[in-house]
Amino acid sequence: MEVLIETLRDSMTEALVPSIMSSTPTNLFLVEVAAGYLVNAVGGMFFYLVFAGLSFWYLYVFKREQYFPPTLPIDLKLQVRQEISYACWSIPIMAVLLTPFQLLIVNGYGKVYENVDEYGWGYFLFSIPFFLLFTDMLIYFIHRALHWNIFYKYIHKPHHRFRYTTPFSSHSFHPLDGWAQGIPYYIFALLFPIHNKLFMVLFVLVNFWTISIHDQVDFQGAGIINSTGHHTIHHELFVYNYGQYTTLWDRLCGTYKPSFKTNELLTGKRIIKKRGSKAKAA
Ligand SMILES: [Zn+2]
Ligand SMILES: [Zn+2]
Repeated sequence: MEVLIETLRDSMTEALVPSIMSSTPTNLFLVEVAAGYLVNAVGGMFFYLVFAGLSFWYLYVFKREQYFPPTLPIDLKLQVRQEISYACWSIPIMAVLLTPFQLLIVNGYGKVYENVDEYGWGYFLFSIPFFLLFTDMLIYFIHRALHWNIFYKYIHKPHHRFRYTTPFSSHSFHPLDGWAQGIPYYIFALLFPIHNKLFMVLFVLVNFWTISIHDQVDFQGAGIINSTGHHTIHHELFVYNYGQYTTLWDRLCGTYKPSFKTNELLTGKRIIKKRGSKAKAA
């Protein structure tokens, strides 16, 4: 992420600073703020619309016969329109809240490093599961707190507005909700060394993951990975499966409910069933 900000900041500085103002530290800082905001707001919006759109088109339109979830009403136009408009209102505000943390990291207050040799390949590889497990733990507890009365009512409820999710539900969050669940990634980068490009990849990955767990198409079933089925149960029953990547903290804290896969990847067979009941037909 900070790689993008640095690149955009440098191009904006070259393009804007000589012509409209002198390159004082204050002006350069403002350019950096603008670059950070643009990466978050425009990049976030672009990512959401393109990849949630592709997921929706592939699973619900192009391969509709195979994948369209039996739990969803056939006509999703109103729901999808409301999800997209809420996300498009929220993402630019979320970007304002997240930009200061990115700027801290870009300006060297975090532990982000550029050269793999600084910590070695061993740490580089270790930092991948470490990052995933650390953020998974924080998001579990933050998500549980977001279900407390006052937080739920004013912050988390918009994400639970529709009982059954679509790919467009993925980023349809209140800005404070998106901020709260996005902050663990920056906390990691502020506390622990992480390679700059790896950080960017993992940040993009979580956004893909978020779209994926809302599409209601599940190939995995019960397991340690928090699958689409688990997150769909969370949206249907509210009090189970708060995790992001794994079911670890749900299992440890007694909020785990197993899910069943709805699709067979290799055979294309579809298992029609109500979630939480046994599969009935293929
Ligand atoms: Zn929730
Ligand atoms: Zn959700």
